[in-house]
Amino acid sequence: MTQTSHDLFKAARQCIPGGVNSPVRAFRGVGGDPIFMDHSEGAYFWDVEGKRYIDYVGSWGPMILGHNHPEVRAAVHAQVDKGLGFGAPTAIEVDMAEMVCRLIPGIELLRMTSSGTEAVMSAIRLARGYTGRDKIIKFEGNYHGHSDSLLVKAGSGALTLGQPSSAGIPREVSQDTLVLPYNDLSAVEQMMQQYGFDVATIIVEPVAGNMGCVPPEPGFLEGLRALCDQYETILIFDEVMTGFRVALGGAQSLYGVRPDLTTFGKIIGGGLPVGALGGPREIMEYLAPNGPVYQAGTLSGNPVAMAAGLKTLQLLSEPGFHDKLAVQTRKLCDGLAERAKAASVPLQINQVPAMFGWFFSDEPVRGFDAVMRADSQRYARFFHGLLAQGVYLAPSAYEAGFVSAAHGDAEIKATLDAAELVLAQLKEE
Ligand code: PMP
Repeated sequence: MTQTSHDLFKAARQCIPGGVNSPVRAFRGVGGDPIFMDHSEGAYFWDVEGKRYIDYVGSWGPMILGHNHPEVRAAVHAQVDKGLGFGAPTAIEVDMAEMVCRLIPGIELLRMTSSGTEAVMSAIRLARGYTGRDKIIKFEGNYHGHSDSLLVKAGSGALTLGQPSSAGIPREVSQDTLVLPYNDLSAVEQMMQQYGFDVATIIVEPVAGNMGCVPPEPGFLEGLRALCDQYETILIFDEVMTGFRVALGGAQSLYGVRPDLTTFGKIIGGGLPVGALGGPREIMEYLAPNGPVYQAGTLSGNPVAMAAGLKTLQLLSEPGFHDKLAVQTRKLCDGLAERAKAASVPLQINQVPAMFGWFFSDEPVRGFDAVMRADSQRYARFFHGLLAQGVYLAPSAYEAGFVSAAHGDAEIKATLDAAELVLAQLKEE
């Protein structure tokens, strides 16, 4: 007998907190039961009841080639045949580090981790160890994983659940995290005037993707770079989401601003659990075993994960790959804008190549406050309307959407046709 998502969720709640292993999956942001998935291919996945969806979540970012790409699958199979992991160095880790150093000009050394959270946590420790300072600056609604010092006014699931600052974090830890509004350079200038030489690092999502999608205002990233130079503070771009997505060289190449340290995740693991941090030799050499900043991982650089990530990076390095993604993203977003206008439903659309944010609002969304003023209930109705028609958006108004290389014209047209129907329903409410 086919298992239903409803029954599986019931069973899951008996043995997994909230029935899920990561909070946003529980559909709290949109209501209803989460859909349990069974298998995937290209732009699609199928749930346990056999229903097919066009997927714009892409495993929250990694699936930039589309789901279950045959060449990635083959690379993983080939590594599985050789062994699942050794806890000793392997050649493929060198291949991975060389590849990333080649693709991202400011990176001379790269350290692999098993998640984005670990990568960012380690980058913060490295910045503190290198500068000998404790304070860090982050931005409201940016999410950098769930390590203690960063789970303060955070985005993503923390925001979806209305708990942007988690319980369980000691005051002594969070008091060194200074939180400022995203895209507000003058607020950063003022803060730096006061504390600049005590600030180890400014960490930023160069395109915010954990409060929907909010691109940087012109001059914002450049301004952060200049302030970090002035106060000898480490600038970290958290490119866990944007790395290898918005451009081959990530947001730092798209906007032409070079950070000191960069963190990666998602795409660099090709769908398997991976993160990484990289930067210039001078800073990176502070990491153990050469330097005093300890950082480690039993599964770091796991060869199966490296095989998936490396093959993914090789395929997305092909000429024209990101241009095509940008074109498809534009077709989707421009098509939706037209339909929303025709239906007289106020919708703000933010987009960068391969990433988008859709906000039910009649004001431009350039920062956290505007995100919070958008109508998240309406997003939930839009989400469920599309879901019923086989289009799967992020189950929260506070997450970015992702376009993959497998989203062809047919998938985009089907999505827009479905959206047109749902927008007409929304208008009648
Ligand atoms: N940083 C950013 C910008 C992210 O988007 C995420 C995850 N969505 C993380 C860090 C944390 O990565 P992970 O979930 O792999 O720990």
